Amino acid sequence: MNQFPLPQSDHEALPARNPLRELPADVIERIAAGEVVERPVSVVKELVENALDAGAHEVRIEVRGGGLRMIRVIDDGVGIPVEELEHVCLRHTTSKLQVFEDLNHLHSLGFRGEALASIAAVAEITVLSRAQETESADTEQPAHWITWRGGEILQRGQRARLHGTTVTVVDLFHNVPVRLQYTRGARTENGHIVQLVRRYALGYPVVRFHLTIDEHIALQTSGSGNLATAMTELYQLSLDEVLREIALNDSEQHYHIYGFIGNRVLAQSSRQHIAMFVNGRWVQVTALQDALEQGYRNLLPKGKHPVLTIMIEVPPEEVDVNIHPAKTDVHLLYEKSIAAALTQAVRSVLERNPALPETVAFPGPIMVTQRRLSAPRRRGLHVAETADGYHATSADAESAVAIEQLRPLAQLQQAVILAEAPDGSLYLVDQHRAHERIIYEHLRRSSIDEKQREGHAHLLLEPVIVEMKRYEAELLEQRLPLLRGLGIECERFGGRSFLVRSVPGGEGYEQLVAHLQELTEIAAEDSTDWMDHLFINLACHSALKRGRDLSIGEQKTLLNALAQVMAPAVCPHGSPILLHYSRAFLIDKFDW
Ligand code: ADP
Ligand code: MG
Repeated sequence: MNQFPLPQSDHEALPARNPLRELPADVIERIAAGEVVERPVSVVKELVENALDAGAHEVRIEVRGGGLRMIRVIDDGVGIPVEELEHVCLRHTTSKLQVFEDLNHLHSLGFRGEALASIAAVAEITVLSRAQETESADTEQPAHWITWRGGEILQRGQRARLHGTTVTVVDLFHNVPVRLQYTRGARTENGHIVQLVRRYALGYPVVRFHLTIDEHIALQTSGSGNLATAMTELYQLSLDEVLREIALNDSEQHYHIYGFIGNRVLAQSSRQHIAMFVNGRWVQVTALQDALEQGYRNLLPKGKHPVLTIMIEVPPEEVDVNIHPAKTDVHLLYEKSIAAALTQAVRSVLERNPALPETVAFPGPIMVTQRRLSAPRRRGLHVAETADGYHATSADAESAVAIEQLRPLAQLQQAVILAEAPDGSLYLVDQHRAHERIIYEHLRRSSIDEKQREGHAHLLLEPVIVEMKRYEAELLEQRLPLLRGLGIECERFGGRSFLVRSVPGGEGYEQLVAHLQELTEIAAEDSTDWMDHLFINLACHSALKRGRDLSIGEQKTLLNALAQVMAPAVCPHGSPILLHYSRAFLIDKFDW
């Protein structure tokens, strides 16, 4: 399934490491340079990336005093050979890139060889490391450490340690005025650090992350390798029902998309929980974020954003990573088709799943009481503990309903059909929205397929006059042939008046007469999705109303028609059509 090497998948053994080399001048000139340590959180970023590049299975991060007092990152990766240790803090010295062309098939997060050098210039840094044992190597070898201050070696020594690297940065920005800016803002900086580490933990579910801030556990993951599990650990989700898996490949192998998306219940007030990775690198590509949100279109309330994590794998040569190191934008060769695929994937997943009866509160920040010392309570810090014992598997996820197998039992409040599924679970079906969905999809199909249109106009006994604004009149005039194709016969009646002679035929369409002014205004909207908007409104106004008595036969007919549609779970406005009370729910609530 994964044609492209996933960063998570090659963690069984530690990666081979190339020797440390100073980059040739021509390569230095061609890679985008940038100030990498602008603030404490950027130090954490660089050190975590180095740990991941070293193939660590576990990354432990300790932060004190907003990062100014201390930042320590401990990994169990390949380590640094003792003879290279004293060169790691030299500028443009890296083991990851040798010639410029390597950038085209880069699998590491770093490659500029600048981070440690930049940190060494503004802090005291100690690198303790022991290289991974080669078979012949003496297993009694100790680890070596070197401390630099102001770029100069201050001290060195040896001590025992398993393979891997510990980098400790203290007294950050001691020699630069910018330090003042961060001395009071420890809380803010801690917040950024938690967010940052959370991203890497999402991007590398196979790696065990552990972050403590001033001795408190801020977050930890189990390194289960399962993205859904990582999301539940990081976001304190307790219900797998709220996350849905998406996975797709394009036929030409330009991309592979995988991830979990939260349903409408998880609506958030910021975009903070939209996490996207391209080849393991956290990115912020506005066009792709928009595409994802577009998939939720009417499903989330205005101003709300989803919770989701999406991994995009593309062949390395189709993504440009040589951008400013602090920037998280990337250029993707097939961005447009990836965007379209994302929208479609999100939409189809959400449209097929019935809503759940309970509302699920999205657990926000939870303070961990365990291990809390006497330090004062910090607000603004997102602290989550692990969701013990919870394992989400995509197999638990409920599959789409077989609506044709539903047996209507009764009608509730002349508005909701109660139906039993073969497994004994109960479905509630909103009759108006179900009918709306059926009509909407019919209109959409008939706008594409001419054959479905024949005889689908219902001639009005009395034509209706509608009045347009001037700019609307022009647009409407141009669209008259399209409207005719939908069964709406309309003609200009001089000036800005139009005469509507027919509406699309079929049950319930007489109800449209009262809404012709509104409908023609939509048909004259200056937007690219006016037609979809029109379909939604036509469907809404002609659908069965709530308050209409339905016989069991009529209920069955409606359910049969709903079984035929593409998206039976949500109405065109994005509201739920189906509510599902599973057997498990009944057993649990009745305590059977
Ligand atoms: P880059 O990551 O761009 O190569 P850095 O300045 O971050 O540059 O690191 C310089 C070099 O130090 C790396 O190329 C790598 O060889 C070595 N190094 C740094 N951190 C680690 C680590 N945690 N484990 C193993 N090697 C490391
Ligand atoms: Mg690096």
